[in-house]
Amino acid sequence: MVSYKSLLSFLSILISIAILPIHPLVSCASAANSDDTDFLDQRTAMVKSQIVERGVKDTHVIGAMLSVPRHKFVPDKYIASAYDDRPLPIGYGQTISQPYIVAYMTEVLNLNKTSKVLEVGTGSGFQAAILSPIVKQVYTIEIIPELATSASFRLKNLGYDNVEVGIGDGYYGWNKHAPFDAIIVTAAAGHIPPPLLAQLKNNGRMVIPVGGSFMVQNLILINKDKEGNITTRNLLPVRFVPLTGKPD
Ligand code: SAM
Repeated sequence: MVSYKSLLSFLSILISIAILPIHPLVSCASAANSDDTDFLDQRTAMVKSQIVERGVKDTHVIGAMLSVPRHKFVPDKYIASAYDDRPLPIGYGQTISQPYIVAYMTEVLNLNKTSKVLEVGTGSGFQAAILSPIVKQVYTIEIIPELATSASFRLKNLGYDNVEVGIGDGYYGWNKHAPFDAIIVTAAAGHIPPPLLAQLKNNGRMVIPVGGSFMVQNLILINKDKEGNITTRNLLPVRFVPLTGKPD
């Protein structure tokens, strides 16, 4: 049984490992600004109660969730709710996903520092920022140009230099940068898009919510083995905004 005290010291070690070398803007701000200290406290509490206590174990994922300033990815009017246990509106009828779902989807992809990842559905850029310190390169594609532009600006400003944002229909993936070690789709598709399967490397993994807007959606984990054979596994029921673009 892990005591609360040892968990807190584990979290503070992770904070120092995760924040200092990677995102100097965040660490400078946290030393200088009491608002940011307050957000750091909120973020630490969020990671403890919403992420660690629900079973996420990957220390790289936990470190990223501790380091990324989620309050800088939400519209001003939702800043006070940035660390709540729920998705939040980001404009254009879209949402930033619930923190737990972001952490869980990242963990199941089994990523490491050599991974090249495609995200479909950039939104605010938060999921891409979580991936950034864990992997080698993130490509993220967004169908709404205004969201893509603001996420790209935000990610560069915060120092997430290994993330490239593209504007387009992610149903078709991003052929120019394929194949990918992992693909994460953050909008619900009616079916698994064949172009994404084609752009997944052998031994690669994809996580995607599948189901209609008003139906139960399932989060599905897809494995491509070393011969290119596909297996799928239902992980849990979820609710995502729909993948638009290519009609079903
Ligand atoms: N990952 C985002 C984040 O961290 O803020 C949240 C994603 S939000 C739940 C889903 C996003 O997928 C929206 O921004 C939406 O515009 C985008 N989207 C929907 N259909 C798409 C498509 N065909 N191609 C690319 N992006 C799409």
